[in-house]
Order: sequence, then structure tokens, then C-alpha cells
Amino acid sequence: MNSTGWKKPSLDDPIQFIKGVGPKKALLLRKLQLTAIEDLLYFLPFRYEDRSQFKKISTLIPSEFATIRAEVLNAGIIYIGRRKRIFEVIFQDETGTARGKWFRFNETYMLEKFKTGAKLIVSGKPTINKRSGLEFAHPDTEQLTGENATSMEIGKIFPVYHITEGLHQKSIRNILSNVLEKYLPLVDEFIPRDILQRHKFLSRSEAFHKTHSPPSEGFTAKDLDAFKTPAQKRLIFEELFLIQIGLAFNKKHSRTIKIGTTFKTRGTLIKQFIKLLPFQLTIAQKKVLAEIMEDLEKGKSMNRLIQGDVGSGKTIVALTALLTAVDNSTQAAFMVPTEILAEQHYLNILPYCEALGIDLALVTGTLKGKERKTIYQKIREGKTRIIIGTHSLVQKEIQFKNLGLAVVDEQHRFGVLQREAIGKKGKQPHLLIMTATPIPRSMALTLYGDMDVSFLDEFPPGRQPITTRVYYEKQQIKAYALMESELEQGRQAFVVCPLIEESEEIDLIAATTVFESIQKKFPQFTACLIHGKLKKEERQKIMWRFLKNEIQVLVATTVIEVGIDIPNASVMIIEHAERFGLAQLHQLRGRVGRGKYLSHCLLVAYFPISEEGKARLKVIQASRDGFEIAEEDLKIRGPGDFMGTRQSGLPILKIANLIRDIKILSIARKEAFLLIDRDPTLKDPANQPLKNAVQRIIGQHLPLMEII
Ligand code: ADP
Ligand code: MG
Repeated sequence: MNSTGWKKPSLDDPIQFIKGVGPKKALLLRKLQLTAIEDLLYFLPFRYEDRSQFKKISTLIPSEFATIRAEVLNAGIIYIGRRKRIFEVIFQDETGTARGKWFRFNETYMLEKFKTGAKLIVSGKPTINKRSGLEFAHPDTEQLTGENATSMEIGKIFPVYHITEGLHQKSIRNILSNVLEKYLPLVDEFIPRDILQRHKFLSRSEAFHKTHSPPSEGFTAKDLDAFKTPAQKRLIFEELFLIQIGLAFNKKHSRTIKIGTTFKTRGTLIKQFIKLLPFQLTIAQKKVLAEIMEDLEKGKSMNRLIQGDVGSGKTIVALTALLTAVDNSTQAAFMVPTEILAEQHYLNILPYCEALGIDLALVTGTLKGKERKTIYQKIREGKTRIIIGTHSLVQKEIQFKNLGLAVVDEQHRFGVLQREAIGKKGKQPHLLIMTATPIPRSMALTLYGDMDVSFLDEFPPGRQPITTRVYYEKQQIKAYALMESELEQGRQAFVVCPLIEESEEIDLIAATTVFESIQKKFPQFTACLIHGKLKKEERQKIMWRFLKNEIQVLVATTVIEVGIDIPNASVMIIEHAERFGLAQLHQLRGRVGRGKYLSHCLLVAYFPISEEGKARLKVIQASRDGFEIAEEDLKIRGPGDFMGTRQSGLPILKIANLIRDIKILSIARKEAFLLIDRDPTLKDPANQPLKNAVQRIIGQHLPLMEII
């Protein structure tokens, strides 16, 4: 059916229903993920240009956006060399002249438009050309003819959209103004009225209107660029509110559905265990443990996330939780992302379990034959009390007798689904998730908003600091000299080479070159190369040899297995550090400084380095605080796709920025949780529009939503 048919217009209408959108434009818009009218409404400007103030040519400042009113003095094609053609226009007002330049143009159209004497409005960022003075490259121009020569319609704040090749700002503005004209009356409100009133939020349709077509009075382009206007705030609120409603709902209902076993905490086993520890728990560890114990005593399934930087001591916290399950006559599972890490945890935990008389098992993909059968059987019969393993723990063949608690380590490596899979291995076992990927608190509340979150925000005492330094190009010699002196003192070193996605072969060549030059330069030490093309067993063997100090320098192409503890390693050299992300650099740095030695993280960088790359190197040098680094990372990368959201299963934020909008987020969270407390299934007719919106916009992202 087409737009002249009988169908009532709706926000679900395809974009072709809009005047100005033919098949060609529709294709371009689809590239931007815009297929329905509603998508267009949510396609918000990322920047604004103030064209309400006209400047005189004599007052233009290079690289500062400006709008002038001018007359065409002269226009035509200029040839540069034999091939290159430029269309140049000389504009003038009563204070001077400036040039406009076009490198791609339609000659007939341009000659017609820029006739001598034509009056125009010209907008853009001027630059200074040494020979010809001020010039605008591809400025926006608008002809002043008859009526609008005197009208103020054109002088206002203009929205700027992220566009794609072949689609011009002018066309998208045009399309949006047609959308607003025809569909704005269909935009309905779904935020409850009392919330709107309490925070004086604009209505939804007014918010869309003023965001796409800002009034020239009241707010400046700067306010708009900072997303500070009431219209933008309303849309930010709406986006965060819907997500928080989903999370509040999930939390409320997972708690009432999951009955969970009530545990007795602080039993004899725990007391014995704490006595065995060679150190005192940190205050943060005690605080987090108290939070866990409180959950376990409640009679509802625990669903808690521990956020703790690399080296903050999460393993002991996990082990205490596992032992509490054992103390309550249930089994406990500890799931980690890699085999080597599983083995390391196993070996760390084994002495405690032996001392306490607890049967511990390790389950990995390498288990074979009879051994495998015996272990599986003991798990099934409930003889084995603590089971450590990789994701092979969730396979069908593994059956627990009575799984009471599961810990999932390094959550960011598992998807939400695996987290749920381990939860299904018992009758509503308590779930404890641990992650070392530092994310800002505001983000944790969004990504894990249906879980309770604990922050392990303190390092065990006596941790040696890590010095971080950047070496550019040839200075790398100094980095390797430092490594040599550390090796001479008996320490070990990591050398990490980056992964360049296009070709694993090329990566390997680059890493091999580094490896060979290290071998040649430091023949007195054993170096080894580890990379993704090696078999798993091979890689594991190398890691064990490194752990036992049979290897002194480990050169790695890819990221070294998360979480592995090599206390004797005191040097981390990162080659081409400018290519790594901040979170990655921080994780890699966390591989050293785990023992009693002063450690060094040496970043070797090569030109050219992007602005972002430079900013990252500065941040990693200045800070060791994972949360701070994560916040800086977000600032550098901007609001777009922030780490983890894609995997988290939550919708990508379109307008909200979790750093910038932290205040609105806390309002949204508070209001959402209050509302779900009052009306747990949104059955109040007044909340029907909200319920529809939640289901439509985030329903598929949250499994429990189905039941409302
Ligand atoms: P992560 O949080 O990265 O998993 P780990 O649990 O591996 O950190 O702990 C890092 C190191 O700190 C381990 O060697 C561990 O034995 C040690 N550790 C943990 N808690 C304490 C503490 N309270 N005091 C001293 N050392 C501790
Ligand atoms: Mg760990």
C-alpha cells in the first residue's frame, strides 16, 4: 500500500511514505539503520550550527563556524593542472570578500545558482589561504530570493546529522522536517504523568520537535551541543528510564520467582579457612563478603556482581562463597574462561581444600576416558563438593547432585547466556559473577542493573607499584635495556605484539621478528613465542614453563590469558602500544606487579599516532585506577558504542551518555524502581502506554519481560 492508500498513518510506516524519500534515498537511509518513521524521529542531530547570527566578512575567524549574508561578485571554474577543476565563487559584503570552493560540482547547476549579483546566505568553517585569503570549502549556501530575502526563516539554529555518502545534510533536514510535519501529532506520551510533572519534563512530541528543529530563542547551539536543553534531557531520560524499567522488572521478578536456598553463613568451615589464610582480608574484601553473606541468608537466590580490578583479590572472596555452600551441604561450581586459568585456580585452591578435607575437582575439555568418567560420576553422586572448570561445566553430561552456588569469573568473556546456563544446573543456585573489566559505576548500574553490585575497590597491602613509561620509535632500545637488567636480577618479562585484524600471518611475522631479535640480543635467556596458531596443549605447556621460570621472556601475539598469576614477572613490554585500547592496556599491565617486586610497564609506540591513540597513552601513564581509566576511555571514545553493551544484550544507547548524563540516569533509575515497586506488572491502565513502549523498545533484550 502506498501513501495515498487508506491505511491510517503510523510511526511504523516505512520511510518511503515521506515526501522526498524515493527508492534511492531509502537505500541510503537503510544504511543508517533507518527503516521506519520512528527510526527517523530517534535519529537525532549530534551537533548544531548557529545561523541566526550573521557575521561580517571582516570579522570572520578561521576555523570558527560562521554564517554570512553576501552577494556573488564572480563565479566560475578554475583549472589546476590538466585534470583538476574547482568551482570558485567570490562573495562580498560591505566589509570585504571571501571565497567559496567546490571540488565536486555540477557545472550547469552552479553557474545558474551563483550568478553575479545573486544574494546568498553562506555557512561554514572558513580557513585562511595564504594567497587568496579567507575561503570556505563546500559551504552550505541558500539563495535569498523574493520572499525569503527578507524573511528570517533561514536564520536559525540548524541541526547536523551523521550522514552517509550520497546523502546531504540538506536532504536529511528536509526529510525530517516533512516527518515532523506529518507525524508529530501521532507521537504519544508514555512516561507517567506524575513523573513528567515532578521533573518538569517536556512532552514526547515537543521534545522531538525541539531537538530536530530547535527554536532560535532560549538556547544556544552550544547548549544544544552539550545536550543540555530540556528537549534533549527529556529524550535522554526516556531512553534511560525504559532500560531501568526493564531492569527493575527483571530484578523484582527474578527475586520473587527464584526462591533459593537459605544458607547458614560464617560456619565452622569458613572460620577454619580464614585461619589458614597467610594474610588478613582487606577491608574491601570483608565488606564484599558481608554483602554476599547477607544475600545467602535471605532465602532468595543471590544474583550479585563483584567488580574488582585486576589483583584486587577476588579469588579469596569467591572461595569463601564456595565454602559457604559446602558448609550448607551443597555443591559449588567455579566457572572460568580458560583452561589455564581453571588449572591455576585449582592449584591455588587445592591446598586449602586438602587442609579442610573437601573433595575438589577440575573439569576441562582435556579430560579424557576413565578419569573423566570417574570425575563426572563423583559430581553426580555429590561426593565432589567444589568443581572448578571452564565452560565445559555447562555441558549436558555434567550433572550436579545439588548445586547450591556458582561463581562465574571474568564475566566479560562469557555471554549472558552462559551465565544463565550455569544457573540452570541446579535448583535456583546462588549466582556470583566476577569481573575485572573496570567499568564506571554508572555503567555497571545499567549493564548489570538487574543484579546487585559489589565493588572490591581496594588492593591488598604491600602491592609494589608499577611504573608506566612510553618509548617512541628508536627509544625502544631503552625499554629492552631495562628488561635486560630486570632479567639479570632473576625476573621475567612479557613482550606483547598487537593483533592487526586483517591478517594473522602478518601479525605472526611481526611477532616472530621481535622474538628473533630478542633471542639474538639476549642469548643468555630463554625466550619463547606464543600465538593463536599454536595448539591449545602447546600454549598451555609454554605457560606452565613460563610459570616455572624455565622461560624468561614470553613473546605473545595475542592477549595473554586473562587472570594468570606470574608473581616473578616484573616487565611488560607492549609493542605498538598506540594500537591497543585502554581497557586492554590496563589488563595487560595487570599481568605484572603481582609479586613483591617493583614492576615496569613499557609502552613502545610508533608514528603516526592518532589523536585518540595519544590520548590513550597519556591516560594509561597517568592512572592506575581501573575505574578512572574506564571513565577516561568513555570520554575519549564518546557516547556511541561503549564497551560491553553489544554483548550485554541491552539496546545500544542512541542519545544518552552514561558519563555526561549520570544525573539523569540516577533519576531514571529511582523513578523506574519506585514505579515497579508500586505496580510490579504495570497493570494499572494509566501505565498501559508505558508497558507497550517497554515491550516494543526493549522487550527482546530482557528475557523476563515476556511474562508481563
Ligand atoms: P584478582 O582479583 O585479579 O582475581 P587474585 O584473587 O588473583 O586477584 O589476587 C591477587 C593476589 O593477591 C593473589 O596472589 C592473592 O593471593 C593475593 N591476595 C588476595 N587477597 C589478599 C590480602 N587480603 N592480602 C594480601 N594478599 C592478598
Ligand atoms: Mg582473578
